[in-house]
Amino acid sequence: MRIAMIGVGYVGLVSGACFSEFGHDVICVDSNRERIAALERGEIPIFEPGLDDLVARNLQANRLHFTHDLKTAVTGAEAIFIAVGTPSRRGDGHADLSFVYQAARDIAAKLSSYAVIVTKSTVPVGTGREVERIIRAARPEAVFDVASNPEFLREGAAINDFMRPDRVVIGTQSERARAVLRRIYRPLNLIETLILFADLETAELIKYAANAFLAMKISYINQIADLCEKVGADVHDVARGIGLDGRIGAKFLHPGPGYGGSCFPKDTLALMHTAQEAGTPLTLVEATVAFNDLRKEQMADRVLAALGGSGKGKRIAVLGLTFKPNTDDMRDSPSLTILPRLQAAGAEILAHDPAGMAEARKLMPDVTYCEDAYQTLDGADAMVLLTEWNAYRAMDLGRMHALMRQPVVIDLRNVYGSREMRKAGFDYRSVGRPKRD
Ligand code: NAD
Repeated sequence: MRIAMIGVGYVGLVSGACFSEFGHDVICVDSNRERIAALERGEIPIFEPGLDDLVARNLQANRLHFTHDLKTAVTGAEAIFIAVGTPSRRGDGHADLSFVYQAARDIAAKLSSYAVIVTKSTVPVGTGREVERIIRAARPEAVFDVASNPEFLREGAAINDFMRPDRVVIGTQSERARAVLRRIYRPLNLIETLILFADLETAELIKYAANAFLAMKISYINQIADLCEKVGADVHDVARGIGLDGRIGAKFLHPGPGYGGSCFPKDTLALMHTAQEAGTPLTLVEATVAFNDLRKEQMADRVLAALGGSGKGKRIAVLGLTFKPNTDDMRDSPSLTILPRLQAAGAEILAHDPAGMAEARKLMPDVTYCEDAYQTLDGADAMVLLTEWNAYRAMDLGRMHALMRQPVVIDLRNVYGSREMRKAGFDYRSVGRPKRD
C-alpha cells in the first residue's frame, strides 16, 4: 500500500520507516527542506537507537522515500498520516494545532483519489472533526475519511515500541477507513497485537488519558519518595511492593527530578484545558502538573542545600541533560529548569550529555559543555546526575573523587549504590532512600 507521512520528526520518521519495514511504500514529506535534504543524503536528523539502519535498509529496498513536495507524497496514497508537532500554545497551554490544520489545508489542495487522512499527532478531542471540516470546505467533491491513530512510542525505544506495540488504537466509524488501517497494521497480526477500534473522539482522548495517567504515576512515586526520606523508608522497595500488584504495575514508579520531554508536560496541560472547558476539571491532573513544576525547582534547591545553601562561587558538574537517556530530545527537560536556577544562585555549570549537547547549547548558552563526563568534574564542588545514561553508571569512582574539589554527589536518578558511594568517600545524596543504606 502507498502511504504518505506528513512531518518527519521523532514520530513521523520512526512511523514512516517502520511502515516501510512492514512492506508498504512510504513517502515522507516535511516542510523543513534542510531536514529532507539531510535524509536524502542518508543523514538521520534525530538520535534514536537503530533508526539509521532501519532507514538505510528501507531506502535501499526502495520502499521509503523523502520529499519536500506534498503533491508527490499525497498523490496515489491510500493513507495520509499527519505527524506534525502539536506543542503547547504560548500563554495558555492549549495544544497549538496550527501545524495540523496547515497540513489539512495542504492535503486538501492536493488530494486526487480516495484516502484516509489519519492524525498520528497527539491532538485534542475535536481536532479530527475540524480536519474533516477543513478538507470538506476546500474540496466538497473529494472522497476521503478522517481517522485518529495516536502514537504511543517512547523515544529511545521507539522502533521496538512501534514494531511491537501493546495495542494500536484506531478512531473512525468509517468501515472503508478501518479496512485501510487494518491492512496497514496487518503485519502485527503475527504477534497478535490488539487493534482497538473506537470513534474519533474516543481515540483522541485515549492518548491524553494515557499520558496524563503515566505523568500522575511519576508524580505519585516522587511524592512517595519525599515521604520515604522523612520517615526512613526506601522508595525502591515501596515501588516494588506496590508494583507487584497487577492492578498497579511496576513501570513508571522510578523516582527522579520530575517528568519532562516532548509529550507529558504539553499533553497534561492540554488535557487540563480540554477538561476545564468541558466543565469537568481534572483536578488530579492539575495537581500533577503543579507538583511536577515545583519538583524541578525543589531539585535545584536540594543541590544548593548540599552546597551549604548557596551556589555563589560554586562549580557544579552536571551529568545528563536530556529528559531521559537514549534520545537527543531536550524539549521540556528538567535540566532546563534546574540548571538556570542553579546559575541564578551564583553557580557555574559544567555539563555533559552523550547526545543532547548540540540542542542544549542553543537553549542554555551560558553553560560550559564538556566533551567528556570526567572533564565536568575537574574542581567541582558537587556533581549532579540528572539523566541515567548507561555511560554514567560505570564511572570510575576513584577518578571522580580525585577530580572533585568537594566530593558531593546528588544522584537524582538513584543510579549509584548509597553504601558504595559512601565507601568511596562521597557525601552522597539520592532520592527517597534512607541514609543508613
Ligand atoms: P517533531 O517536532 O519532532 O516533528 C514534527 C515535524 O513536522 C517537523 O519536522 C516539522 O518540520 C514538520 N512539519 C510541521 N508542519 C508541517 C507541515 N505543514 N507539513 C510538513 N511537515 C510539517 O514532533 P514529534 O516529536 O515527532 O511529535 C509529533 C506528534 O506526535 C506530536 O503531536 C507529539 O505529541 C506526538 N507524539 C510524540 C511522541 C514522541 O516521543 N516524540 C510520542 C507519541 C506522540
